[in-house]
Amino acid sequence: MTATTNFPTASILGYPRIGRRRELKKAVEAYWAGKISLGELDTAAKEVQLTTLNRLRDLGLDQPDAIPGTFSYYDQVLDTAAHLGAIPARFGELLDHNGALGLDGYFTLARGNAEQQPLEMTKWFDSNYHYLVPEIAPDTHFSVTSNRLIEDFEFALANGVRTRPYLVGPVTFLLLSKAADNAPADFSPLAKLDEILPIYAELLQRLARAGAEWVQLDEPALVVDGELPVEQLQAAVTTAYQQLAAAPARPKLLLSTPYGSLDALLETVAAAPVEALHLDLFKGKVPADLPGLKNALAGKTLVAGLVDGHNIWRNDLAAAAAKLDTLSSAGINLAVSTSTSTFHVPHDAAEEIQLNEQLRSWLAFADQKVGEVITLAGYLADAASAQQAISDASLIIAGRSQTPGVQRSEVRQRLAALSAADFSRDDYANRAKAQQEQLQLPLLPTTTIGSFPQTGEIRSARARANRGELDDAQYQQLMREEIRRVVELQEGLGFDVLVHGEPERNDMVQYFAENLEGFDVTVHGWVQSYGSRCTRPSILWGDVTRSQPITVEWAAFAQSLTEKPMKGMLTGPVTILAWSFVRDDQPLKDTANQVALALRDEIADLEAAGIKIIQVDEPALRELLPLRKADQPEYLDWSVQAFRLATSGATTSTQVHTHLCYSEFGVVIDAIDGLDADVTSIEAARSRMEVVNDLQSHGFGRGVGPGVYDIHSPRVPGEAEVSELLRTAVDHVPARQLWVNPDCGLKTRGYIETEESLRNLVAATKEVRAQL
Ligand code: ZN
Repeated sequence: MTATTNFPTASILGYPRIGRRRELKKAVEAYWAGKISLGELDTAAKEVQLTTLNRLRDLGLDQPDAIPGTFSYYDQVLDTAAHLGAIPARFGELLDHNGALGLDGYFTLARGNAEQQPLEMTKWFDSNYHYLVPEIAPDTHFSVTSNRLIEDFEFALANGVRTRPYLVGPVTFLLLSKAADNAPADFSPLAKLDEILPIYAELLQRLARAGAEWVQLDEPALVVDGELPVEQLQAAVTTAYQQLAAAPARPKLLLSTPYGSLDALLETVAAAPVEALHLDLFKGKVPADLPGLKNALAGKTLVAGLVDGHNIWRNDLAAAAAKLDTLSSAGINLAVSTSTSTFHVPHDAAEEIQLNEQLRSWLAFADQKVGEVITLAGYLADAASAQQAISDASLIIAGRSQTPGVQRSEVRQRLAALSAADFSRDDYANRAKAQQEQLQLPLLPTTTIGSFPQTGEIRSARARANRGELDDAQYQQLMREEIRRVVELQEGLGFDVLVHGEPERNDMVQYFAENLEGFDVTVHGWVQSYGSRCTRPSILWGDVTRSQPITVEWAAFAQSLTEKPMKGMLTGPVTILAWSFVRDDQPLKDTANQVALALRDEIADLEAAGIKIIQVDEPALRELLPLRKADQPEYLDWSVQAFRLATSGATTSTQVHTHLCYSEFGVVIDAIDGLDADVTSIEAARSRMEVVNDLQSHGFGRGVGPGVYDIHSPRVPGEAEVSELLRTAVDHVPARQLWVNPDCGLKTRGYIETEESLRNLVAATKEVRAQL
């Protein structure tokens, strides 16, 4: 291998692909709705790609191969599956007469059809992006079934840019896949490594023929502590890359490892026979043994992922430059990049002109990150030329702490004064007794998770209020009417514990962000959550306080409409953090506790207003779980403590509920127990109540509501189906602990299926109750 590999000195791992104004989202959804043709969709997609190329070139990413080909119609894992022909047999024939998976087939895998559920969706590492899980069976036959990678490359080339095509790497692809339902129990997708490598090799050759000089193979699964022993991963990496490197007439390879450190795999990965290796040096550390690293790299380029791709804060360029100094003094060939793809952050902070100028100066969205990478690459070439930019960044960062609102002494004093007593409640036995005396609930109480369908009328009322077409009083009036309808509906259906339906909330996190100090919201700050679905996370930049009650009026109004208990509904501290862009200038734990204190005050006000049950949702508790096992206990400790801080001010007779949105429960069950909520509702219907086994073996002693109605599709569960699930639950968990509820909130559902499903849920409960 030569001493220099010509990898571009400034590069990024990936770029947002939905378009600056969500053009791709809009085009894809219009196509699904039959409003535009395939040709029009293609035109819109090319437009997004071209805008990206021009933008990145204008920002200075002008070396060949510097721009990654990370455009996607839906998801990068699905793209890779499409290229490898990893198409589950259950979908039947999706390939066209040329043996290719067209866009319609591709969307069928993502969205399902009348007969088939779509591929399962799950979280992409520790981010809020969701990928589609490929299904692999022992008889899955791989072949190149898509040419889109090559077409996208050629399109860019024709427009004057030689991009660097992107694929999920072979080891990560298989580690992220699951065994198809019909596979034998001991089958693991990784067993197919030898079979997919020739397909990768063929793709690489086709790309080389089309003129690609570099290809990026992304291997983030190597930074995760998974189920496989390290030795097995080492062997997989070695096999995979030796074989790919040996492919004749291939392009040069960048192996990228975002989202953390390689740790025990570093040596093996560094020695892989590729031309460039990317390390995440933002979240991960600069390896300690630099001579060893240099040796293993054997002349390949180390692409230093120094600029955070995952959060929105301006880079500490001085700290990044110091890392470059350390690496270059060890004689390692260097280039600069982002730590991860920048598709986790919005396009351009400069567009957020409504934000306070100071706050805006702290931000780096994708476009600003490109600038930071270029500055650092400039530093590598000529340190003096970058000095000004580096010291400017240091100055701005240093100024943050002086800015009003970043540190509020009253918040800090309150946190400092906390003692153990602030994190715990009365004994559960006393609570259970006092609560039952107050609430007088039947066995198997029925309830819902909080939201009711967000109808077109609700959304349009909110849009009109935002545009100033409705005044506050008019908007409030409409929401109150909606709450009244939802309460009457639940009364009519015979629910035991009611909710107000959350019509006033645009989103369960943004709503609180908009009503707490320390947050700001963006206008154009959309990021992809999955497929065409985008979210607009709020920015948590300062100390958090609550200047006035947030939910109390709504809850009290709802309670005034019924004799039944009305649940107060709050979003928990961890979920508020997980679904926002959170300040990086203090430990997450401190920020979580600040949010917790604000919620604690809200709970006190809800109690004072006569609310006797309060639910604090933590659907994201699992999402923030660190990828490395060694880091998990500390996280679980502070996240549980934050929930307890929020809820333990509640009096003994107030029933605290929590809600969690996933069924794979095992790893966090201790933590869930540790939350000490009186009642926990969890997703369970799709896994046919598997969670009740976990609950039973763990000896979970408080109230629990395993979901009996899968709200993720319009399908209506029949009464018999619900009662069967309930009987399964009763077999494992004492009936006095059991609650009956759907899997999650109903906001994405329509009223027709919701009413029917809820009616079945109540009828099934009565049936099972009668048999107890
Ligand atoms: Zn949920």
